[in-house]
Amino acid sequence: MNVTPCPNFNHRRSDAPVRFCPNCSKVVNATIPVKQCSEELHARARMNRSKYCVNCGKQLIK
Ligand SMILES: [Zn+2]
Ligand SMILES: [Zn+2]
Repeated sequence: MNVTPCPNFNHRRSDAPVRFCPNCSKVVNATIPVKQCSEELHARARMNRSKYCVNCGKQLIK
């Protein structure tokens, strides 16, 4: 089992609803396909203080 220092709850779920962790950008559910995101979606993710996009893994906050 992979031990990760990331506190995001998605790492502890076997059925995470997103592909990427918003905190560390690691893939938490590889069965979910990578999505093409719009800037609007990324802007909304930033407002939720996601460091990385959960759909495409892109870094949102530097
Ligand atoms: Zn993480
Ligand atoms: Zn994205």
